[in-house]
Formats: sequence, C-alpha cells, structure tokens
Amino acid sequence: MSKPKPFPAIHGGCFCGSTRYRLETAPLFNHACHCQDCNKRTGSVFACFTTVETEFITPIGKTPPKITTNVRPTGVVQYIATCGTCGTRLWATGDRSTSIAEINTGSLDLPELMEPDVHAFIESKIPWVLLPEGAKTCTGHFDYSKWWPTSSLKRLDAAIQREQEKTKLQAKVVRAESLDAEDEKEADKTPTAQTPDEKEVAEDDEEFERRYLETEKALQERLEQLSLRLKEHEKVQGDDLRSDVVQAAKEPVSEPPTAEPKEVPVVTVSENDVP
Ligand SMILES: [Zn+2]
Ligand SMILES: [Zn+2]
Repeated sequence: MSKPKPFPAIHGGCFCGSTRYRLETAPLFNHACHCQDCNKRTGSVFACFTTVETEFITPIGKTPPKITTNVRPTGVVQYIATCGTCGTRLWATGDRSTSIAEINTGSLDLPELMEPDVHAFIESKIPWVLLPEGAKTCTGHFDYSKWWPTSSLKRLDAAIQREQEKTKLQAKVVRAESLDAEDEKEADKTPTAQTPDEKEVAEDDEEFERRYLETEKALQERLEQLSLRLKEHEKVQGDDLRSDVVQAAKEPVSEPPTAEPKEVPVVTVSENDVP
C-alpha cells in the first residue's frame, strides 16, 4: 500500500552497466561538496550528490549493488552501495540516518538534470573550478533546516519515523522468534512469529496521501525546471542515445522495469583497469 504512485522514472547505474537502479520518487535535494574528504573519496575535484529516501532506490540491473557497512566516527552506521564488478560508488546513506541516501549524481543517466541546489564547503573549492553564475554557496556543510525545502524536510522526518518503526518491529520479531525457540510447539500456533511485510507497516492512508501530495508538488516543480533544461539540451545535442534515455525517463514506473542494462560486453576487470 505504501508503494509510491507512479513517478517518471529516473535511472542510473555503474560504469560497466551491470548494476542499475531506478528512483521511485523525486530527489529531496541536490548538492555539490567541495570538501577535501569528498575530493579524496571520489578522486575528483568536487562531488555532487542527489539525496533521496533509501527505500525509494530500486535495484534493477542484473547484478544487485554490493552493500558495505561503515561506522562513522559519530557512531552512525553507513551503508555504501557500489558495483561489485567495476567498483563504481553509486550511493551511501547519509550522516543523519540510514533512511536517506546520497546518490553520486554522476551515476545517474542524466546528471545534467540535477543541478546542485547549493555548493557546500565553498572555502575549500579548488580555485580553477568555476561555478555557474548565480550558483548558491555556503561555507562548511549546509544546514538542512535552512537549505532544504519544507516538503523535503517533512519527507525526511517521515522517512526517519518509518525507519524507527521498522526497527521496533524487527526487534519484536526477534523477541517472538526467541520465544519460539523456547517453545517450538506453541510457536507453530503463534501468528506474531511470522515475519510481517515491512512495506505494509507504518503508513496509513492519510499519511500516504499527505506524503504523495508533498512529493508530487516537489517533483512537479523540479520537472518543470528539468523539461526546460531538457529542451535546451536536445536543441544543442541531437544525440539518439540521449533521446532514448529521455524517452525511458518519461515512462511511468508502473510499467515493468526495463531491467536489462545496455549491451555491455563481459569484461574481466583487473584492479589496474578500475578507473
Ligand atoms: Zn559496474
Ligand atoms: Zn564533502
């Protein structure tokens, strides 16, 4: 029931094409980071991220993303999704909660659609990296409450809440299972011993409707900007491949996922080949 209603599909994937994903909703925020950590992590001169609820990233490629766990100095657990074949980093959960993820914008099929809403850590920007006229900047990390749209802040709270409820529910299931272990005969009759469908939990109709309307509004605004930019883009480049991708991006996600990655030859990647 809590499955989002159809949104225009936004696809992305890794360098070799075997790990692909689809965004089921509009991004919460886009930002660029010019901090030295991001430069080291990405091996680039600045990083760009597209933030979305982790639960709304659907893997669709022939290889599922490889998920590694990292514990930050603050104690917050972080899940990092990469391609197990070519090593492309696709997304990582955020510094506040595992319920939101920062996608590496460059892994999207049309990263040009996700212009940063703000450039953070502007004080450590490489001097020859020039920002577009009118780009918004801030020193240090941006303050969520100041920079994120209200609709995104509400979605963030809702995502954190859903995650907490899921965690509570999992704890309940674990308790129920340990009771089962104590009394197997009884457990056979105990309905709470069943694993509930996680997606069915924690959102009633009203809550869904509210989230849907907020998301739809945010998406609508973003889509209007994006279609303008797409028109410009298509005018400049009559690239067939891009048109195909744009066409795919317009199809509703209710259609069966086009899970097949582009024709990619099977390549044996050695350590040295990884860019
Ligand atoms: Zn790959
Ligand atoms: Zn950074």
